[in-house]
Amino acid sequence: MENAMKSLKVFVVVVALQFFLRIQFASAAEINTNEVSSSNAPSWVKVSRVDRVVSRVQRFMEWDLRKVKVVWYSDQKEFQHFHHYDSSVLAVTQKPENTIHLGPRVDNSNFDAVFGHELVHAILFQKYKKSIPNWLEEGLANYASKHGTVDYRWIASQPFVDVKTLGHPFLDSAHSTLSPRYHYQVSTALIQMIASKCNLEELLQLSLGTSLENYLSTTCELDDINASFQTWVKKKNKANS
Ligand SMILES: [Zn+2]
Repeated sequence: MENAMKSLKVFVVVVALQFFLRIQFASAAEINTNEVSSSNAPSWVKVSRVDRVVSRVQRFMEWDLRKVKVVWYSDQKEFQHFHHYDSSVLAVTQKPENTIHLGPRVDNSNFDAVFGHELVHAILFQKYKKSIPNWLEEGLANYASKHGTVDYRWIASQPFVDVKTLGHPFLDSAHSTLSPRYHYQVSTALIQMIASKCNLEELLQLSLGTSLENYLSTTCELDDINASFQTWVKKKNKANS
């Protein structure tokens, strides 16, 4: 009887170990395409899915990506220790290094939008350098990757600032009282406004090697971006309520 119990215990330990190893093994996979390389992608990330997101963003941005490295994090603490921003951050792109870092909260439900958003950042650096002003970068990344929605009622309840002075959502010392959410929401709303006034793809092409700001007045008839934005937010808020 005692021997039987012993072998049962050994059997349980062996099964548990196999199960653990299988999970460990299944949680990391190699992805290597023309545009993306990753050595530790979760098993649910399939090459076909990566290709689909890459193609969509490349088409919108009219650019063939120079191969980006993608690093996955399974530990939130380790991820935050790497980027030093707050816990709301899902992913980070290191532009000069051409590397995208995806945190543990990037999952099956949000991968396309989050990864697409980061790919736009990588392309903006590879193709546009400084052509796209800071205050439009996050909005463009959201717009091109269909990431998130704009809450116009919330924006209308917030103070209006000179939108051209807005910087990086987490590093904007000139507007330290404004939340990262404010930066993302306003930037995305601005892109929606610009896209409603002129052809965004055309505007991006014109901006190559120069600044997009030069064309807002001539191509989109946006002479005073701040005044137009306040009118736009009021109109959208009214339409939604
Ligand atoms: Zn971003």
